[in-house]
Amino acid sequence: MPLQIVHHPDYDAGFAVNHRFPMSKYPLLMDALRARGLAGPNALNIAEPAPASWLKLAHAADYVDQVLACTVPEKIEREIGFPVGSRVSLRAQLATGGTMLAARLALRHGIACNTAGGSHHARRAQGAGFCTFNDVAVAALMLLAEGAAQKILVVDLDVHQGDGTADILAGDPRAFTFSMHGDRNYPVHKIASDLDIALPDGTGDAAYLERLGGILPELSARARWDIVFYNAGVDVHAEDRLGRLSLSDCGLRARDEAVIGHFRALGIPVCGVIGGGYSSDVSALAARHAILFEVGSGYA
Ligand SMILES: [Zn+2]
Repeated sequence: MPLQIVHHPDYDAGFAVNHRFPMSKYPLLMDALRARGLAGPNALNIAEPAPASWLKLAHAADYVDQVLACTVPEKIEREIGFPVGSRVSLRAQLATGGTMLAARLALRHGIACNTAGGSHHARRAQGAGFCTFNDVAVAALMLLAEGAAQKILVVDLDVHQGDGTADILAGDPRAFTFSMHGDRNYPVHKIASDLDIALPDGTGDAAYLERLGGILPELSARARWDIVFYNAGVDVHAEDRLGRLSLSDCGLRARDEAVIGHFRALGIPVCGVIGGGYSSDVSALAARHAILFEVGSGYA
């Protein structure tokens, strides 16, 4: 059984190529996965849009209704970073449905990855920072509501702090949120996760991997986790336009190996989401995101 990959062509909402959000990375990531032989018919699963009832587990009902009706107030659209028209609204529903499907596939097969997701700045009240709906928080709360999981761990290694996920899941004893991020990266005002590690600018591979290797056993020892959501944002890379942590390609691969290898060795299902990544060289960016899938395929 190959690594189960969740995708939808409409993850790409078709922004202009010079938009600050590199939307074309989604189709280019699929091209990269096909070129690596990872996207065959037995590997691909098509995402379906998350219904309002799922979205309202994590988000305020009025905000969900606004996104679905494309009537998000301009002030909130500015915080998100783009207008929420019909294609953006659909992509947010699809990315969330995709993470939910990947979580279900991970529970069944041990590991599965979404080719979108990791919209971790979306808070309960509203979206922010290029994030419309918090797909991981929605999927976590859905699994808990269905009884498919009782204890959920979020390992968020995107370079930006997982403030929205912390906001939504804070105080829920069934979920534990961990974020390791660049201290000086967005958001300026961080919302405390259950555990945060803030790293200095220019941390680099060796110090980063040492810190990660130290914390993984602590995380797995905290509870008997039924599933781990892994945000594998590649904006920790040295050539990322926004990130400040200076990891190399080798460092990225070693990071993904460390996380996935650790939890799979313990038999804990891993649901991977791609998280952030920003570069004007979108092909190079897509290749960085493909590393998650290359590493994941070794554990499928
Ligand atoms: Zn990020």
